[in-house]
Amino acid sequence: MMTVPVNEPVIPAEAKRYVLNALETGWISSAGKYIQEFEEAFARYLGVKHAITATSGTTALHLSLAALGIGPGDEVIVPDFTMIASAYAVLYTGARPVLVDSDPDIYTIDTTQIAANITPHTKAIMPVHIYGHSADMDPIFSIAQERGIAVVEDAAEAHGARYKGRLCGSMGTVNAFSFYGNKIITTGEGGMVVTDDDAIAKRVRSLKDLSHSPEKRFVHEGIGFNYRMTNLQAALGLGQLEHIAEFLKKKQWMAQRYADGLKDVPGLRLPVTKPWAENVFWMYAVLIEDSFGMTRDDFRVALKERGIDTRDFFTSCAQQPAIRALGSAQGPFPVSEDIAQRGLYLPSGLALTEEQISAVISAIRDIAHV
Ligand SMILES: *Cc1c(COP(=O)(O)O)cnc(C)c1O
Repeated sequence: MMTVPVNEPVIPAEAKRYVLNALETGWISSAGKYIQEFEEAFARYLGVKHAITATSGTTALHLSLAALGIGPGDEVIVPDFTMIASAYAVLYTGARPVLVDSDPDIYTIDTTQIAANITPHTKAIMPVHIYGHSADMDPIFSIAQERGIAVVEDAAEAHGARYKGRLCGSMGTVNAFSFYGNKIITTGEGGMVVTDDDAIAKRVRSLKDLSHSPEKRFVHEGIGFNYRMTNLQAALGLGQLEHIAEFLKKKQWMAQRYADGLKDVPGLRLPVTKPWAENVFWMYAVLIEDSFGMTRDDFRVALKERGIDTRDFFTSCAQQPAIRALGSAQGPFPVSEDIAQRGLYLPSGLALTEEQISAVISAIRDIAHV
């Protein structure tokens, strides 16, 4: 029986060569040429002024919010349906995440519910581009501009995705990417903060490196963090980024193969792409409808028995024990709670082969008796 992992990365030859070069030259820590080259290449790719490496998507989000001066007493609008790091980053600053339900088609923040959740304490809106599909940004920018608050894109799942032609992660005041092992570009662990604002960029660079005084190193006027990426990771990132066009093409191929192979399976809802979005299908996410005749959990087990690994959708933030324990019970969030129970994603890694994808499609058709 063929086993198909849910995600397997591709490490191009350049990436291996760069990492080896970093090792052989001894530049293994957070100084070295690949840090700057990766930051410059990433900024060029996005068409922004500043790209600043960090240790993860989580810390890149934290740096973004901290550089905006967000702290205790402040509120940040966050979608209820997201990976927990979006909410954690707000909590690290001492601010409060104010959760908003999701769009039932594309699972990103429901922009019609944002305005009602804005208070005098709101300092930012954090849209998350879920599973590689852009959030609907125009309504978000119009609310943010009207109230004079920041937009922080969580673009951890959306390298190369576009909204009305603009690259995700290039539109907000300050934005964050992740390079975790299953992301479209990976450095093993890693992240990037992106902004056009010189003052924010300067604060991010200071905060990620322990807030050394610009006048005298090892004098610290504020509380900083060590969120420095290593040259080894940047070497891997640069070698990956050089192949992003190819990676995005592979994602389109995957999505087309799944759509062709699964479109007639009753009760299996395939991902929706809005006409204004270029979806990069970070993960190929499907919803199990009642007419499928089996629950999501039973479907996942049936796939597992056939050697196919999948993952459930995120548990919504409001359902997380860690968030509930804060006592600021919000909601209800009918859409995010519903999709969290009915959604899963199929094997979507960049290393997916034709043979593997055929095996996944056949297994699903077999389980669904079509
Ligand atoms: C992966 C992810 C993060 C966190 O990134 P890490 O690099 O794992 O810290 C944040 N937000 C979203 C939406 C993610 O998918």
